[in-house]
Amino acid sequence: MTEVLVLNAGGGQVLHKVSLKHAIGMLYRQVARVHESVPGATFGPYPVPRSVELVRYLYTKWVWETSGRLPCTRQGVLRRDKYRCAYCGRRATTVDHVLPRSRGGKNTWSNCVAACFACNQKKADRTPAEARMRLDVTPQEPTLDDLWPQDSNDEQEGD
Ligand SMILES: [Zn+2]
Repeated sequence: MTEVLVLNAGGGQVLHKVSLKHAIGMLYRQVARVHESVPGATFGPYPVPRSVELVRYLYTKWVWETSGRLPCTRQGVLRRDKYRCAYCGRRATTVDHVLPRSRGGKNTWSNCVAACFACNQKKADRTPAEARMRLDVTPQEPTLDDLWPQDSNDEQEGD
């Protein structure tokens, strides 16, 4: 039986192995994408994968399930804050470290907020108090539901 490696999002970490059939099912359900394929081989409409890579949602879910923590990512912070700037309320496209990283601020949920480009530029390497900018939210670790409320089906990739 051909086995296919399942890699974490980003492809840097091997999580486990699954059967070819299982891997094709993951591609079909779009919970994974082909990382490396067997040259010239196909399985229905899909290239035969040597390895597949989890999509980001499952990576997040996997870390949450194994550690009970959600990894703090740029995309996660934006989703948690609903793409609203924590300083002015306009559409946010960047993430601001409340205590700047240059000052020892950590890349954690409680130190990261969504911010629009203008506010992020204006605040620069200062605290909100120093920059005289009012932080409109109290950043904290979200739940999985906060990040992915639209996802109601419970895809399991463990065997
Ligand atoms: Zn702003």
